[in-house]
Amino acid sequence: MKKLNLILLTFLLTLFACQESSVETSTGSTEKDQSIGKFAIVIHGGAGYIKSLPPEQEKLYKEKMNEALEKGCQILKTGGSAIDAVEKTINILENSPLFNAGKGAVLNNLGQVEMDASIMDGKTLNAGAVAGVHHIKNPISAARIVMDSSKHVLLCGDGAEQFVKKYGIEMKNPEYFIIEKRVKQLEKIQGKKVAVNGIKGNFNQYIDDHKFGTVGCVALDKNGNIAAGTSTGGLMNKKYGRIGDSPIIGAGTYANNETCGISCTGTGEYFIRTLAAHTVSELMKYKKYSLDKAQKESIMQVQKLGGDGGMIGLDKNGNISWFFNTEGMFRGFKKSTGETKIEFYKQKNNL
Ligand code: ASP
Repeated sequence: MKKLNLILLTFLLTLFACQESSVETSTGSTEKDQSIGKFAIVIHGGAGYIKSLPPEQEKLYKEKMNEALEKGCQILKTGGSAIDAVEKTINILENSPLFNAGKGAVLNNLGQVEMDASIMDGKTLNAGAVAGVHHIKNPISAARIVMDSSKHVLLCGDGAEQFVKKYGIEMKNPEYFIIEKRVKQLEKIQGKKVAVNGIKGNFNQYIDDHKFGTVGCVALDKNGNIAAGTSTGGLMNKKYGRIGDSPIIGAGTYANNETCGISCTGTGEYFIRTLAAHTVSELMKYKKYSLDKAQKESIMQVQKLGGDGGMIGLDKNGNISWFFNTEGMFRGFKKSTGETKIEFYKQKNNL
């Protein structure tokens, strides 16, 4: 009898404990909220056709990506917000000439830098973006200003620059952004000498593939909030005035606490036409897909139209997933559990 009472008591206590740790989602379903107190961050540095890098280059990329992840982790560990982590992490990648964002951005068909960026807060669904900017040192921070300090979502060109200048954002001359490697890539594509000023130095350590380099970050903070951001110079030799998916909310970037955060990279036109980032969230919300299944489906839609690239993301429980249909994608993550990874090339779980 005593034993029966003990079993009953244990059963009741277990039931009570389960109810305590459950939350009601806005869709009405009851599920265990596993994210509170945990944090996670995932980044990408672009996707493209490359099978292997010389060890010195691998080292450079690994070190920079690790520095960026560390920065984000530090913010998240000390209770900072996902949106701050995303902005500051991307700043580090934008300031490095290794990536196609900020310094080292690719050139348009006139030999100019035109950068795009966007950021989204999954808690409020607030978002900000800039497109076609050419003097802003850190376009992701400009996107953040548009989100926080204007009633608009997307500002472009000189109007965007004029607006964010008032908030003390750092501006640079075009020479700051342009590196020798990009000029050579443009010359190769156009088959002629390109007149671009202010280029000096040996940039041989930077990889040749002109498709690599857009940067993105998705973070989950200790309060269960998700944020995502993407920053890019776009596609090499793009038409003057062309805008890709990176500053388009729902295409290149999306975040929603109910589902996931996503940052994309690849041939932007296809990610715009399929609303690739938002598609992942919708598949998770309405079809109850897992993050990785939803990402695969979204990239398959891009591929069906003829596009290529990839995406990174995390869900509200801190599960991290990435998917791409190219030979490689610079990618990495860190979690509060101590798990971490940085990878460049295709693994078995990819196409
Ligand atoms: N998606 C970017 C664009 O189309 C480029 C990239 O991610 O490599 O502008």
